[in-house]
Amino acid sequence: MDRDGCLTEELGYVNHVSRIRLLPRTAEAVRRLNRAGVPAVMVTNQAGIAKGYFSEDVLNAVNAEMVRQLGDQDARLDGLYVCTHHPEEGEPPYRADCDCRKPRPGLLLRAASDLGLDLGASVMVGDKISDIGVAHAVGAAGVLVLTGYGRGEWEHRRHQWPLKPDHIAEDLLDAVEWALARTGR
Ligand SMILES: [Mg+2]
Ligand SMILES: [Zn+2]
Repeated sequence: MDRDGCLTEELGYVNHVSRIRLLPRTAEAVRRLNRAGVPAVMVTNQAGIAKGYFSEDVLNAVNAEMVRQLGDQDARLDGLYVCTHHPEEGEPPYRADCDCRKPRPGLLLRAASDLGLDLGASVMVGDKISDIGVAHAVGAAGVLVLTGYGRGEWEHRRHQWPLKPDHIAEDLLDAVEWALARTGR
């Protein structure tokens, strides 16, 4: 699962803990995965680090606050993976032509290796077409949510998409229900 616009509200750069907000049905979606025994993993591009808009300490505090808000609603992420790079902006080591900035597959490959995931049986959910690109890059299914940038992507840009999502979902909970039904869980 993508973070901004999928797990949480898309508010631009989240450069302070006060700016992280779960979307209304996120905790329920993650709880469903937890109860079904399906690993729930976040994969996010945070180029604001490379661009110098916020530090890794702020990023970690923001993610910790998100995890805390989820925990308050009995929902747990099994892994959090972040790309802090940008190919052209900022300074090394963050200015890097990395293998992990979505739609490149590095974050998903790391998660799969750490958690023993079968990517071919996995579902990537996000609000941008690059989230679908990374899904297909590893043989996973890709679900576009209509939260965050998703609705605009769907309504105004889908004729330009280089690829097609496997499913369009109203939000993360809808996406999770689709994913669980697909695997019969
Ligand atoms: Mg997003
Ligand atoms: Zn990266």
